Amino acid sequence: MPAKTIIMCPFCSKEGVTAFHKPSYLQAHTSRISAGAKTTYSRVPDKYLIQSDCPHCGAKQKDIQDWFDGKYKKKLSHEERIEHLKKMGLPLVLKSGEI
Ligand SMILES: [Zn+2]
Repeated sequence: MPAKTIIMCPFCSKEGVTAFHKPSYLQAHTSRISAGAKTTYSRVPDKYLIQSDCPHCGAKQKDIQDWFDGKYKKKLSHEERIEHLKKMGLPLVLKSGEI
């Protein structure tokens, strides 16, 4: 079972967001080859399952989840992220380079 934990909000950098933390683990893959079965392992990265909105800045559970899933990093530049936060009506307390 994943452990319940309190994490830092990626949008306002304050602790208080409830999440389940699933640690990284090795996943076995078995492939059939002529000489028998071959098992290889790949590492599954740890994952945070966000359970609550941020009580400090009001960031939504889904947005925090998206951030932890790497969607914000890949899709948005820092400026676009700030624009996104403005649209969500959040107070702008971010310092450059913090997220
Ligand atoms: Zn927050």
